[in-house]
This record gives sequence, structure tokens and C-alpha cells, in this order.
Amino acid sequence: RAKKSRRGSFVTFSTEMGSDIRERVRLLQSLRSAVESERLFIVYQPQVNLGRDGDVVGVEALIRWRNEDGTFVPPDRFIPLAEASGMIVAIGDWVLRMSCHELVRLQALGLPNLRMSVNVSQIQFRHPEFLDKLNAALIDTGINPKCLELEITESVAMEDADFMLETLHLVRELGISIAIDDFGTGYSSLSHLRQLPIDRLKIDRAFVSELNQQVSGGHIASMVVELGRNLNLTVIAEGIEDEAQAETLLRMGCHEGQGYLYAKPMVPLQLKEWLQARLASR
Ligand code: C2E
Ligand code: MG
Ligand code: MG
Ligand code: MG
Repeated sequence: RAKKSRRGSFVTFSTEMGSDIRERVRLLQSLRSAVESERLFIVYQPQVNLGRDGDVVGVEALIRWRNEDGTFVPPDRFIPLAEASGMIVAIGDWVLRMSCHELVRLQALGLPNLRMSVNVSQIQFRHPEFLDKLNAALIDTGINPKCLELEITESVAMEDADFMLETLHLVRELGISIAIDDFGTGYSSLSHLRQLPIDRLKIDRAFVSELNQQVSGGHIASMVVELGRNLNLTVIAEGIEDEAQAETLLRMGCHEGQGYLYAKPMVPLQLKEWLQARLASR
């Protein structure tokens, strides 16, 4: 590396940056082989009604990558890489398709209105074939579009407003609903938010964990709930870990939630057993 410093632009290229890039390249190569050898899979986390009935209203599809040695690479680490390399388009399509097929099986357990929430990356959402693929997934699986929800983040919804607005309307025309994920962590303009054809706000985990703190805890969560009420949007909270949080959220007027208190994300077989046990207990 030192030898390359003859070229001016390489002088600032420190060893640390070099090893960071090497690490990313290595991770990208192993992501490619993980895709090829089918080491990616999907887990599903239940979303429940926070009210007394505690009905399961939906599940969120979350991707997992398990290495040959049994270790996991968290999505927060490889999704950004998959986005930067464009691989997210193929991976995202696969998640969408798999989740729709899974929804058919889950609804057949006796939950005909169960909802499937799928995270969609900005790159995937902007891809010219996205709507066609969405439509194809609906047709091939025959699911009710009303039971499919796409989770996009605030930044996705805010950037390139005209294009996003049009795409969101087209998604909505298919009958699919849209949730804004990690709400409260971005910089949404309220006037823009009001124009978006969306159905749900998802309170970020960070604001849910704050609920336990005496000072200032819960201010943002209650603001999001209030905002949802004013804009006629449903609100769901993610990352609920204890009863106190669930009770506070319910008191604020947030009616749906998801988190370890109810269940961790599960593979289909495990989820099926969990759902059946829950159905049997009422
Ligand atoms: P997210 O969409 O906000 O998903 C919620 C994350 O919170 C998940 O992390 C979930 O496992 C975790 N979680 C749920 N309940 C609790 C709880 O009670 N306590 C704690 N500590 N954590 C909880 P995960 O599965 O690691 O996913 C991280 C992020 O990766 C997701 O955040 C999402 O942005 C992204 N992601 C996951 N799967 C996909 C995918 O298929 N496509 C895309 N584009 N992104 C995905
Ligand atoms: Mg999500
Ligand atoms: Mg989220
Ligand atoms: Mg999150």
C-alpha cells in the first residue's frame, strides 16, 4: 500500500480504511455465496393487538443469514452491503415471494385475516420492475392484497417526493398497505407526511424502550400516537419487552405491538406451533 502513495490520491488511504474495505469485500463475497448456497432464510415475528384479547394481527418477515459454521450475520450489517451492491433487488424479491407463500400457509391455520409485513429497501422500491414483481407475487400466491403490508423507512418516503408519491399510490391501488418503519428516527416533514398515501406508523424500538424511564420517557411515543390519530393512521409499536411498556402504549392509544414480550422472530415451523398454541388457548 505504501508504494502506491506515489499517486497523490492514495496518500490518505490509511491502513485502517484499507482493512475496512477488505472486510466489506470479503463480506460481500460471502453474501454472494450465501445466496447461491441458500444460506439465507426468513423468520417471522408476531404482531399482536395490545388490548385484552391479544389477538395476533400479523407477522413481520425478517431475513437471516447463517454461516456454515453456525454463526449469524445480522441484517443491519449485510442489508446496507446488499443495497450498495444492488443484490438487495434479488434478495428483496425473494423475501417478498417467500413471505407471500408463507402467508397462505399461516392463514390456513384459521387466521384468514392475518397480515404479512415485508421490509422493502429504498433501492428495491425504486427499481423499475418493482410494481410488476409485486403484482406477480399477488397473482401467483392468490393472497388478498389487503393482507400484505410493505414497511418502508421515513427517509425512503421523504426522498424524491414526486416519484415516491406516485409509486406509493400505485402500490395502494393494488390494495396493499404501507407502514412507515422506525418512525421518529428520521426527519419527516409533517406537511409531506400528511400527503403520503400510507396506513400505519411504526414507533421505533428506541422510543419504546424509553417508556420505562421516569424522566422524559415516552414523550416521543405519545407524540407519534397522537400524530397517527390526527392523520387517521394506525400505530404499531416495535420492540415491546415488558408488560409496563405494553400498558403504557395501550393507555396512550397505541393498539398494536410487537416485541420479545410476545415472541421473538421464529422459523415457520416454530411460528406455526406458537400460533396453534395461542389459538387453542382461547
Ligand atoms: P426493523 O424492520 O425495524 O425490524 C425490527 C427489528 O427489531 C428486528 O431486528 C427484530 O428482530 C428486532 N426486535 C423485535 N422485537 C424486539 C425486542 O423486543 N427487543 C429487541 N431488542 N429487538 C427486537 P432484525 O431482525 O435484526 O432486523 C434488523 C433490521 O434489518 C430490520 O429492522 C430491517 O430494517 C432490516 N431487515 C430485516 N429483514 C429485512 C428484509 O427482508 N429486507 C430489508 N430491506 N430489510 C430487512
Ligand atoms: Mg420492519
Ligand atoms: Mg422497525
Ligand atoms: Mg427498527
